Amino acid sequence: MQKPDFKRIIQWLGVILKCPICGAKYNMDKTRVVESEQDEVYGEARVLIHSDCSKCKSSVMFNVEIRGPEVFSVGMVTDLTGQDSSKFNKLGPICADDIIGIHQELKNFRGDFVSSFTQNKPTEKIV
Ligand SMILES: [Zn+2]
Repeated sequence: MQKPDFKRIIQWLGVILKCPICGAKYNMDKTRVVESEQDEVYGEARVLIHSDCSKCKSSVMFNVEIRGPEVFSVGMVTDLTGQDSSKFNKLGPICADDIIGIHQELKNFRGDFVSSFTQNKPTEKIV
């Protein structure tokens, strides 16, 4: 089984894919592979691609699946930048403690985003 050539796949996608928001063609410099996996036994591969539109600045992620001669592509609009997508890709799934943590934070939130998101928080501790 021949290995999928991701560079060629991305070049091919660059020819056919357009921004779903404004219809502009993608600039391949703004397109990159976030994640890829392949199964040589079954001749299958999956590529997750992130692309930024140079015209309207929207971002789209494409999941491309290759099963032998068939190629399936699903695109979705995202507010994640290319940097965000690789950052969150490395993080694990959200757990129950994360949800309880954000719930407690929001309960005590008084509308001051600056103090909530800066390192030097006021000495108001949540007990
Ligand atoms: Zn666009």
